[in-house]
Amino acid sequence: MSQPSIIGYIARVFGELAYPRLCAACRSAPPCGNDSLYYLSLADDTKAPRMCLCEACTSEFEKSTQVKCRECGKPYRECPCVPKALFDVGIKEARCLFAYDTRSHNTAADRVIYSLKRATNRDATVFLSRLLAERISSDFTREGRDIRAFTIAYAPRRPASIREYGSDHMKAVAKETARILGIERADLFKSKVTSAQKTLTADKRALAAKKGYALRHSASPSIQGKSFILIDDIITTGATLAACVSLLKSADVGKICVYCIAKSK
Ligand SMILES: [Zn+2]
Ligand SMILES: [Zn+2]
Repeated sequence: MSQPSIIGYIARVFGELAYPRLCAACRSAPPCGNDSLYYLSLADDTKAPRMCLCEACTSEFEKSTQVKCRECGKPYRECPCVPKALFDVGIKEARCLFAYDTRSHNTAADRVIYSLKRATNRDATVFLSRLLAERISSDFTREGRDIRAFTIAYAPRRPASIREYGSDHMKAVAKETARILGIERADLFKSKVTSAQKTLTADKRALAAKKGYALRHSASPSIQGKSFILIDDIITTGATLAACVSLLKSADVGKICVYCIAKSK
């Protein structure tokens, strides 16, 4: 080991003792300095050096990306299926990273989402934002679309949940994803949703979402003709995103691409 790399190693060991890297899914601490425990397929990003999954969670996580959609038969990460509510407002494709089982929290992917929503864990935000940014970037490159022409928008959290958990996790994901992609983020919507969507039936969800979101006054004059990548954490019935898409369309925006972190299986 040469001198600079010894100094680098010592600095890293001390850094990790002071700020231990914890697995973003299970919060266990991988052994100090063990690089193999990082989720290595992610591009290097010096602003997020502490993001990692432990070995067990990495292999579980990779399995979740391979779960197959019952409708199209493709692994969820390639599944383009859109729920009816979103299709009805003109969205032909909705892309996600993996399948989410709302009833369990048994897989690494479920646990990362759980951590994200409860804001206990900044690593979960960084980890999922990086995956999302990578996915968007590779899709846009493959399809020859100019990502710089797009702005990231997100479906906001309902006010009661912000009070309960202290933050809007999707605002944080939108901010981080936009930073990694080098594009703008816009806070376009305000949420007036009162009851948790997951407690409602599909019809009631659609109605609650329709009444529950509005464009911020500051947003409406400036977004005409602009293109958006609209993101959310989980698509179940698509009601929330459909309400946001309708608002964007009423403001006469350009293209809208829909991405979510996971789809309910
Ligand atoms: Zn873990
Ligand atoms: Zn599908």
